[in-house]
Amino acid sequence: MQIIRDIATLHRAIDALKLGRKSVALVPTMGALHNGHLSLVRMARRVADHVVVSIFVNPTQFGPNEDFDAYPRDEGRDAALLVDAGTALLWAPAVDVMYPDGHRTHIEVAELGAEYCGAARPGHFDGVATVVAKLFNQVRPDVAIFGEKDWQQLAIIRRMARDLDFAIDILGAPIARDSDGLALSSRNAYLTKDQRAAAAAFPAALQAAAQAIAAGEDVERSLARAEAAIVAGGFDSIDYVALADADSLERLTEFRAPARLLAAARIGKTRLIDNLAVS
Ligand code: AMP
Repeated sequence: MQIIRDIATLHRAIDALKLGRKSVALVPTMGALHNGHLSLVRMARRVADHVVVSIFVNPTQFGPNEDFDAYPRDEGRDAALLVDAGTALLWAPAVDVMYPDGHRTHIEVAELGAEYCGAARPGHFDGVATVVAKLFNQVRPDVAIFGEKDWQQLAIIRRMARDLDFAIDILGAPIARDSDGLALSSRNAYLTKDQRAAAAAFPAALQAAAQAIAAGEDVERSLARAEAAIVAGGFDSIDYVALADADSLERLTEFRAPARLLAAARIGKTRLIDNLAVS
C-alpha cells in the first residue's frame, strides 16, 4: 500500500491506478479505524478495482469547543489494518496540504445541513461538504463509500454530488454495530467502562421507537418515550431524537416511508449519534 501525503504524488499515483480503465473507489475517514470503516473498505473492494482510503482529521468540521485535539490518531495501526483489508493507496495529507494559506472557498448544502447534527454543531456540515468535494477532486474516484452511521452526512454528500455534477457514484454502507447494538464509532474509545455498558440503552431505545412508529403509534409519543429511556439508561442529555424523511431529511410528525429515526445524545463528555430505518 502506498502512503501519500502530497497532491502532485497523489495525482501521479491515481493516474497509474486508473491505467487500463481500472476503477477506483474512495473511502474517506478520519482514522482511528474500526470494523465499521473496514466494512466500507470491503464494500469498496467489491465495487471497484482499486481502493483508496483517506485519513484526514478535518479541522473545519470541528467546533471551537469540540474534540479536534483529543480525536484519536494512530496512523501506524490504521495503515496495518488497511493493508490487510486490501487497500491500494492511503491518502493522508497534513492540514496545510489540504488547506494551504489563503484557502477561502467553502461549500454549503443549504437546509439539509441546518437541523439535527447541524443545529448542535454549527458549520460542521459545511466543513464536511468542503473537504469531501476536495477529496473527490484530489482522488477522482468512480465510486465513493460512506457509512449510513452518519445518515445526515450521507444525505448531504448525495445532494452535493448531484448539485455539483460530480460523476461519482455515492454508496451507503450499513451501520456496523457491537454485539450489544451500539454503533461502532471512533468516539466510543472516549467511554469509560460504565459509560460503555450504559451506552447500549441508546440503540435499544431507538429500536423500540422505530418498531412502535412502524406499528402505527403516535410519533411524538414514541420519540418522547425514546428520549426518556435514553436518559434513564445513563445518558446526560439528548441533542435530538427525530423522525425524518430519509432523503430530504424533512422532519416528520406522522410516519410515511421512506423514514429514518435520527438521534444524538451525550454521555459524560462524549456525543454519540445513531439512526435506524423505520419501515
Ligand atoms: P469517520 O472516520 O468517523 O469520519 O467515518 C468515516 C466513514 O466511516 C464515514 O462514512 C462513516 O459514516 C463511516 N462509519 C463510521 N462508523 C461506522 C459504522 N459503525 N458503520 C458503518 N460505517 C461507519
